[in-house]
Amino acid sequence: MNEPELRAALSATARQATRQGLNPGASGNVSVRLRDGFLVTPSGLPNDALEPGQMVAMDMEGRSDGSLKPSSEWRIHRDIYRARPEAQAVVHAHSPHAVSLSCLRRDIPSFHYMVAAAGGKDIRCSAYATFGTQALSDAVLAALQGRRACLMANHGQVAVGASLDGALALALEVEELCAQYWRAKLMGEPVLLNDAEMDEALECFRHYGQRGDDRQGS
Ligand code: 13P
Ligand code: ZN
Repeated sequence: MNEPELRAALSATARQATRQGLNPGASGNVSVRLRDGFLVTPSGLPNDALEPGQMVAMDMEGRSDGSLKPSSEWRIHRDIYRARPEAQAVVHAHSPHAVSLSCLRRDIPSFHYMVAAAGGKDIRCSAYATFGTQALSDAVLAALQGRRACLMANHGQVAVGASLDGALALALEVEELCAQYWRAKLMGEPVLLNDAEMDEALECFRHYGQRGDDRQGS
């Protein structure tokens, strides 16, 4: 995609995140890789009215194109693109169940095989740090080690994707998992999948959907 197409896709994704209940008001932010930098949503504007021309271009040193002020969390986005060559898009969300669980500062354990969608046997919760700081970005990067998503203590969640659609779908999945885990905990102590069961789920995920070469079915 060229820059105008990426600007349109990014603002559409930010609007969609709000429509899907992931990011009420001006909360959260979204970015997409652009050449040797990235485009990120502007700071403090309502997500459901964002326009392509309001997306802010940044380089890896954190210099913006001087249009609108970039998201206060630009460091998280920049640091993920720096550390993960495969990352093409990042969604940070204040989705309701993820926020609730993040306030308990507990990892989401292997209560459901879909936890593997985030790349591992659990979904970690980062340490707490003030929003918009390098300390928060460092904490998020640590919690993302070997994962594509994490919770952020007393804050929300971050999801990384190979595309804007992929990052948004993963953020939605994390939100759904948080809701499911909460409901299961209301009724008792969920039985966790063991290491071998999660290893198998992770292996199956490598070929799941339109990935892999098993098109004949198996
Ligand atoms: P921005 O509006 O600056 O992106 O901040 C929203 C947010 O979620 C901060 O963590
Ligand atoms: Zn936030």
